[in-house]
Formats: sequence, C-alpha cells, structure tokens
Amino acid sequence: MNSFRIGQGYDVHRIAEGLPMWLCGVRIESPEGFVAHSDGDVAIHALCDALLGALALGDIGHHFPDSSDEFKGIDSKILLSRVMDMVRGKGYSVGNVDITIALQAPKIGGCVPAMRATLAVLLGVPEDCVSVKATTTERLGFVGRGEGCEVWAVCLLQRI
Ligand code: MG
Repeated sequence: MNSFRIGQGYDVHRIAEGLPMWLCGVRIESPEGFVAHSDGDVAIHALCDALLGALALGDIGHHFPDSSDEFKGIDSKILLSRVMDMVRGKGYSVGNVDITIALQAPKIGGCVPAMRATLAVLLGVPEDCVSVKATTTERLGFVGRGEGCEVWAVCLLQRI
C-alpha cells in the first residue's frame, strides 16, 4: 500500500442569472450563479474529483449521477463528506489540497478565508493545509466573457 497518493480534479459550470453561486461551500453574493443538477459548487466538485482520482475511484459523476433525483439540488458539502468517507474507508487522510478558481466576476478574494475554513472542517485538516486561489482570465475565453467558472484542484493523501 502506498504511503502517499496524489490526485487532480477539474470542473466547469455554466453561469446564468438568478441562480445561487456556491464556491467551496460558501454562498457568494452575486446576481448570477451556476447551472447544475446539484447546488453547482464547481470548486467542491473539482476537489471531489481530485480526492477520488488520488485513489483511482472514478469520478464524481460515477458516484453521484446527475440522472438521479437523490442528488437534485444537493448541497455539495454532503457530496464531499461522502467522498471523505470513501477516502477514510480506503485508509487515507488528507495531507493538503490546493484549489485554483478562474472566475471573471464577482471578485471572490474576500471570501477565501471562509472557503478555507469550511473545507478544512470537511477535510479534517488545519486551515493551513487548504489553499484556495482565485484568478480572472483577463477577459479571455469563456471565463473572461462571464459564461462560466473553471476550477482545478490537487490533493495529497497520506496513509493513516
Ligand atoms: Mg460539476
């Protein structure tokens, strides 16, 4: 059994008016939000895929299919808790995670401390093991046009 495993995850959600915007388990004040079957927390989805990827357990769509009513509108923090159950069940804990969010608007830098605190509790690690970084794409591409949000996540797991 390996002592350490790394994983990476990626997700994109479309932006539309009048929907809630959730990122890393924190509600963002915005007239627009993310189109999704769940609450649309694209950052938690990328993080779940990183954790699942580290253990070669497939992806979030495999475990929580968007064809299932069970997951309609579901709080993505619940999905992350379930993924953490799988991680612990395989005998691993989280070492650290690093997340990059590409979003043109609104500015979310002020929400980063709350995001890190929220994820630290769910992951069972100190806040200094949770990095969340926010960037725009200088108005380039679909993110820059405000059409979507793109997130990359990496994680390190360690054998318990
Ligand atoms: Mg998603």
